[in-house]
Amino acid sequence: MISKESIIASLNNVGPNTLYELSKRLILLIPASFDYVAPRTLDEGVKFLEKQGDDAKVLAGGHSLIPLLRFRLASPKYLVDINRIVGLEYIRESDGYLHIGSLTRYADVEASQLIQSKYQVLSDAAGHIADPLVRNMGTVGGNICHSDPANDLPATMLALGASMVALGSSGERVIPAEQFFVDTFQTALKLTELLKEIRVPVPSAHTGSAYMKLERRVGDFPIVGVAAQVKLNAQGICENVGLGLTAAGPKALKPKGAEASLRGKKPGEKEIREAANLAAQDAQPVSDLRGPAEYKREMIRVLTVRALQRALERARGGT
Ligand SMILES: Cc1cc2nc3c(=O)[nH]c(=O)nc-3n(C[C@H](O)[C@H](O)[C@H](O)COP(=O)(O)OP(=O)(O)OC[C@H]3O[C@@H](n4cnc5c(N)ncnc54)[C@H](O)[C@@H]3O)c2cc1C
Repeated sequence: MISKESIIASLNNVGPNTLYELSKRLILLIPASFDYVAPRTLDEGVKFLEKQGDDAKVLAGGHSLIPLLRFRLASPKYLVDINRIVGLEYIRESDGYLHIGSLTRYADVEASQLIQSKYQVLSDAAGHIADPLVRNMGTVGGNICHSDPANDLPATMLALGASMVALGSSGERVIPAEQFFVDTFQTALKLTELLKEIRVPVPSAHTGSAYMKLERRVGDFPIVGVAAQVKLNAQGICENVGLGLTAAGPKALKPKGAEASLRGKKPGEKEIREAANLAAQDAQPVSDLRGPAEYKREMIRVLTVRALQRALERARGGT
């Protein structure tokens, strides 16, 4: 198999004599052949996955999977397109939870009045993913299942204390976000399971949340990002705090020391700065095209301050 590195090396060396070589390699941008399956029900989808195991790959919005297929970094035998399954796109509150169907598009999350009023961290993040084309097709479930540390939604799920509902042939399994993200491109989902929905606890009064993202250009993947949710009591004391970091390590990270440092305190400038220092210490950024590790660590500190400040403003606004 020709690697991604060799394709990039070809692109970096284009000259008159390499055009022929390059055109040969670009053929690789056509995926390897696969069979296409489009189940109409969840049951049908799950049964197919159960039967085919690691030969099958679920297709949702396709904005991460299709590039992987084209570079032949993934070559499944079957592509299981879940877009025709009715009833996987929804945003609703019931039984103390916000339920988001795994096929819900970012554009719907961004536009949802319910999310804008009570789960602002999600509308902040969804509204800053890529461009309108990606936001119209990309799905909440795909963003999470891909477990790219630079994807914006995993950190928001950690901050909100969300859980993922996996569906397999033996029924449903509820996986807390903290256990769901295992490593880069790796989740706790089994190959024979579908992600059905995401559940977020309904926030009580005086809770606010926010997402801050630093990007090189509008619509880019983040250099780093920080998600925060804060719950205050009637006296303005911090009862609970959730934080999540994007592009700060091999997977989305939950800086627990920073969260704990704010609990039980009235959050002022000093407390927020202390929490941000702890979040930056917990981060494990790497140097890459988006900047050196130390710059990213400093930006995590700055964005943690800003995300907490905005979440607190919203919490005091009394949602
Ligand atoms: C130009 C561009 C810019 C982008 N910028 C950003 C950005 O700024 N921030 C950001 O967060 N993302 C960004 N993305 C990625 C984008 O958000 C993808 O949509 C997302 O990573 C994957 O979601 P999807 O619905 O497209 O999933 P797909 O690409 O269809 O699938 C991704 C993975 O998840 C699995 N999967 C999907 N749904 C399920 C399910 N229900 N059950 C089990 N497995 C499932 C698939 O098998 C696959 O492994 C960008 C993409 C592009 C093309």
